[in-house]
Amino acid sequence: MLDLLKKRFGYDQFRPLQAEIIASVLERRDTLVLMPTGGGKSLCYQLPALRFDGLTLVISPLVALMKDQVDTLKANGIAAEFINSSLTYPELNNVRRRVRRNTAKILYVAPERLTLPGFMNFLAELTVSLVAVDEAHCISMWGHEFRPDYRNLVTLRHALPGVPCIALTATATEQVRRDIAEQLELTQPQEFVASFNRANLTYSVRPKRNSVDALTDLLDEYRGESCIVYCFSRKSTQDLATALCERGLSALPYHAGLDTTVRSQTQERFIRDEVPIIVATIAFGMGIDKPDVRLVVHYDLPKSLEGYYQETGRAGRDGLPSECALFYSYGDKVKQDFFIDQIEDPAEQRNARDKLARVIDFCDLQTCRRKYLLAYFGEDWHQDNCGGCDACLTPREEFDATVIAQKILSAIVRTGERFGIAHVSRVLRGANTKRIRELRHDRLSVHGIVDDFSDSEIKEVAGLLQAEGLLRKNSREYAGLSLTSAGRTFLKNREDLTLTRAKQAEPAPHTTSDSDPAQVWRRRDTPPLADEQGDIAVDAALFEKLRELRRKLAAERNVPPYVIFGDVTLRQMAAYLPQSREGLSHVSGVGAAKLERWGEAFLEVVRSYADEQGLVERPVPGTRRSRESQGSKVSRKGSTYTATKQLLEQGQSITEVAAERGLSLRTVVSHIEKLVADGEDVDLGPLLPSSDRLEAIQHALARSGTTVLAPVKAMLSKDYTYEEIRLVRAFMHQSH
Ligand code: ADP
Ligand code: ZN
Repeated sequence: MLDLLKKRFGYDQFRPLQAEIIASVLERRDTLVLMPTGGGKSLCYQLPALRFDGLTLVISPLVALMKDQVDTLKANGIAAEFINSSLTYPELNNVRRRVRRNTAKILYVAPERLTLPGFMNFLAELTVSLVAVDEAHCISMWGHEFRPDYRNLVTLRHALPGVPCIALTATATEQVRRDIAEQLELTQPQEFVASFNRANLTYSVRPKRNSVDALTDLLDEYRGESCIVYCFSRKSTQDLATALCERGLSALPYHAGLDTTVRSQTQERFIRDEVPIIVATIAFGMGIDKPDVRLVVHYDLPKSLEGYYQETGRAGRDGLPSECALFYSYGDKVKQDFFIDQIEDPAEQRNARDKLARVIDFCDLQTCRRKYLLAYFGEDWHQDNCGGCDACLTPREEFDATVIAQKILSAIVRTGERFGIAHVSRVLRGANTKRIRELRHDRLSVHGIVDDFSDSEIKEVAGLLQAEGLLRKNSREYAGLSLTSAGRTFLKNREDLTLTRAKQAEPAPHTTSDSDPAQVWRRRDTPPLADEQGDIAVDAALFEKLRELRRKLAAERNVPPYVIFGDVTLRQMAAYLPQSREGLSHVSGVGAAKLERWGEAFLEVVRSYADEQGLVERPVPGTRRSRESQGSKVSRKGSTYTATKQLLEQGQSITEVAAERGLSLRTVVSHIEKLVADGEDVDLGPLLPSSDRLEAIQHALARSGTTVLAPVKAMLSKDYTYEEIRLVRAFMHQSH
């Protein structure tokens, strides 16, 4: 199958679970696949289709996408066809003729066709080997995109007894998954559930202040690349698109209120790289498979994390580093609350409130956003530092939180452990409101005992105390906080506590932009969680020339540019400068058909550029390694860890590695922890502190008997750092 993968699609390795799924399909078993957007679901039926004698029937609800999908297959030399309402009668007849003559391997069909007698009669003449149901959650009423047409699939299954079925979806709860299996009458299906972590996406939440300026700056960094900005209302998409255009960016609005032709034109221009920025309501994106969207902005608050995950999921399907930014203000929450108040059905209203509360939690988070998001969908994320969200990427500093933590915890206890931090903070800062007087909270000993922390700083510390496990929320919907048993112990024993928080902005050393902590994680040439392709040194000028050629070829053929070659492919060309067909064939995404068809054209551009600049070809590394084919999460580690490991092996200290890679000490240490956890051979010896300190830390770790570091740190004297403790912990883990 690996040979077929390289020959037909030009890829060297499978993405996680693809190999296992394909094996299951080839065994002709019913198969259920749950994989995030960009996970590579299509390949799971396209590759087996090439092996089967008969036809593979693909049911997909996204009529607008079918042509692009079929064009993509054809570009790879795979005979594919589609049948949907966009075909004229003569066109339909031609498709039928080609399919009957057995020239097509894959046939895409819209679900509403399945009830038409004409189609079922046609089907009766064919040999079908496999049925693939894309967006399978559409069959379930429990899902949020129920399509009555999908219920016709049972009829199809009955008409094709014994033909195996593969159902694929990116959104499905346990309930929906059961429903899919039942409705499609899958027989003892093999189920595959991939991790929903999108390793190449970076998440951030930004304050919504001077937001048009901030948005313009952000979009400026992605000039010429595809970006989507989501807004709450139709009107704001239009206003914002206009504002962006006035600032010299090229943006178009998109929402359900626009004329159908205008909408499809806008979508088309975006897909063809003619307009880079779309400002849209969530109506945009459903019918789009564009693999190279580099930035997704939520300019207004999303209604739920499900929606947020789905919309951000449209970034970086091709696996290259891409960014998701959310602009958040308290005013937006109030606005959303107002809309929720209008909902009449009480159950629905409660549900909406609950969902919004989780979005707000996500925005207020001081800790890893990826971890929170994955936990929301029921997945554990074990890493300390994901290296791909603002919380993990902002340089952090330690501060002595002993006193403020005691004050916050006491205030929570004194007010009865039922108020949210907003109220507790008001009490601590001595506010004298009617409500506080009514509750007699102005008489408490904790009233007005904090004057060295602002409201937002108190909230930040409370967030950190939650993350440390000293505080917890009483319920999901309400903000009320109470102490955990660890929190009580802490308060009773008057323990010391050191926490880390985002480094406070220091006075600018050189220029203002240098001191902006955001710059650190926005730097795009060293994406922290980049895939292999993201990390390579790409010649930007050559990349532009290659894109130009791609655009030209695509326009001539009336297909989207990504059908010709994806960004991963062009970036590799612009990094390794292949100058022979042999060299080019090693580039990811260059299969036999594309090499034949377009190889020379691209080689010519590379050759003349290399000549002009006096550059030479470099070998494409890592060709055909089975790194990903094992499918486990561990084997998916990005090269960022490898890069750290290599520098350490060269004898660099942690500080040197951090400086060289532009990372924080904390991040480098988290890389080491990850490497050790994965059983990689890392020599920690030279990195450990002096033997007396080592002993002290080992002792504290053993005595605390917990994995939470704060108590361990509290046992040691002040000058011990978290990094040291982490290293020693990793060392103890290693020597076990
Ligand atoms: P999904 O349907 O799960 O959202 P797709 O099937 O559209 O994902 O695949 C997303 C992108 O990843 C496509 O551009 C596809 O060509 C690419 N891709 C899929 N499998 C591989 C692989 N094994 N190696 C490299 N790229 C792949
Ligand atoms: Zn993170």
